Amino acid sequence: MPVSGRPPYDEGNIFARILRGEIPSRKVHEDEYALAFHDIAPQAAVHVLVIPKGPYVSVADFSVGAPPEAIAGFWRAVAETARKLGLEDAGFRVLTNMGHDAGQEVPHFHVHIFGGQPLGPMLAGRGPGA
Ligand code: 5GP
Repeated sequence: MPVSGRPPYDEGNIFARILRGEIPSRKVHEDEYALAFHDIAPQAAVHVLVIPKGPYVSVADFSVGAPPEAIAGFWRAVAETARKLGLEDAGFRVLTNMGHDAGQEVPHFHVHIFGGQPLGPMLAGRGPGA
């Protein structure tokens, strides 16, 4: 952990490359704070990722390290993305994975928006050892 207390950010991660336009994505929404695009391997009828434009590795890093206007802008972009996808009436799920136990694959903070179908129970297992 660096002196600042924040984890190091890998500029080569796949979402950093998408933000720089080096890798294409199917964009849903973009503003000064965030980019939203369809997941390459959707796990629901609608599965979209929303990422902040700043270099934050996780929800904890973003929440501690980002300025308040970036945090507000990010969550407004999440809501605007769901609105553009037409999910507001039926509902949707927002999920973020952080670290090993959650299975975070890409070390750039992102939330998943799932919708377009009934989503079932929140977790596959329902408790320790399930
Ligand atoms: P995590 O497990 O880190 O919460 O989720 C990472 C997500 O990124 C996965 O759902 C995975 O399918 C998605 N993903 C990985 N690489 C790419 C890519 O190159 N493009 C897009 N659009 N999604 C990706």
